[in-house]
Amino acid sequence: MHKTELNSLTMEELEGYIYSIGEQKYRAEQLFTFIHKNQGTDIENISVFSMGLRDKLEKVSKINQLRIFKRFDSKIDNTKKYLFLLEDNNIIESVAMEYKHGLTACISTQVGCKMGCSFCASTKEGLIRSLTPGEMASQIYMMEKDLNNKISNIVLMGSGEPLDNYENTIKFLNIIHEPKGHNTSYRNITLSTCGLVPKIYKLAEEDIPITLSISLHSPFDEDRRKIMPIGNKYSVYDIIEACKYYNHKTKRRITIEYTLIEGVNDREKDLNELVKILKGMNCHINLIPLNPISESSQERPSKINIERFERSLVKANIPVTIRREMGGDINASCGQLRRRYTNERH
Ligand code: SAH
Repeated sequence: MHKTELNSLTMEELEGYIYSIGEQKYRAEQLFTFIHKNQGTDIENISVFSMGLRDKLEKVSKINQLRIFKRFDSKIDNTKKYLFLLEDNNIIESVAMEYKHGLTACISTQVGCKMGCSFCASTKEGLIRSLTPGEMASQIYMMEKDLNNKISNIVLMGSGEPLDNYENTIKFLNIIHEPKGHNTSYRNITLSTCGLVPKIYKLAEEDIPITLSISLHSPFDEDRRKIMPIGNKYSVYDIIEACKYYNHKTKRRITIEYTLIEGVNDREKDLNELVKILKGMNCHINLIPLNPISESSQERPSKINIERFERSLVKANIPVTIRREMGGDINASCGQLRRRYTNERH
């Protein structure tokens, strides 16, 4: 029998569910707090419920669980990388990074990805399936329990394209923000997308002031299409228009992610065009030095060239940072660990 996944329900949905099984509404809040604040995983342990109610719930529902399959610890910066086993034995990866402002979790939204970006390891075997809201939240709770520390910032930058798993991602955001549960401020959450334009407009209407981060990687459609197949569907112009709308609607500054690839997008003309298209937009550029993967011959530019690119953007009055590499000694980026493991297993 199909069991309802309790940890994937928003507070509102949980109220509806509890009501539908003939219980009083206030039970929903108790259940939500048990799952998302106390991070309980066994219905059996809900001590505020009678034995009878626990039995009844167990027959028709469950709290979906992840298991830590492996953990890798960086000796350089204390970054922890996790491989989690899902109930169906798929593997996903998540990362916990220590910053001055607190612990940041980078989580996955899908098993694999169908977007096909040339430089990204997560997409090499395509999309296997999307994650449920509960599976996204569990990544956070499992890391918190394991590290005995609260996660204050969340970035949806692990494997998968969050806007290709739109409904579940929105539900996850709702759940993780709920004050009766984990209570994460929307302002501490960043969603990164390869640029699914209609979904960016939709997100702007949701009234959730998270930071939107756009993987642009080239200002020229022709070049962008070569590294990001999604460029065949949506042009750079369409993306920038959608970003301006998001700016206007949410008053939030957009982050533009720009992975620097030698000879592909680090030239003078890329820089000039980038400055031109971003003029007047409330944004910030995050330069990511490419993490080369074995499936591609693309390389990262030299440090000198990366810094030159940065300086030119500063000169053009565009706020810019270079992404600090975290956990460089543990393959911490971009689906590389999971892939190494799944390759070994086959
Ligand atoms: N699907 C989302 C989230 C993916 S990963 C998106 O496309 O934004 C987050 C960022 O890492 C994206 O900007 C992605 O393009 C970048 N990235 C992926 N693989 C990379 C690699 N090997 N080196 C540097 N950046 C990479």
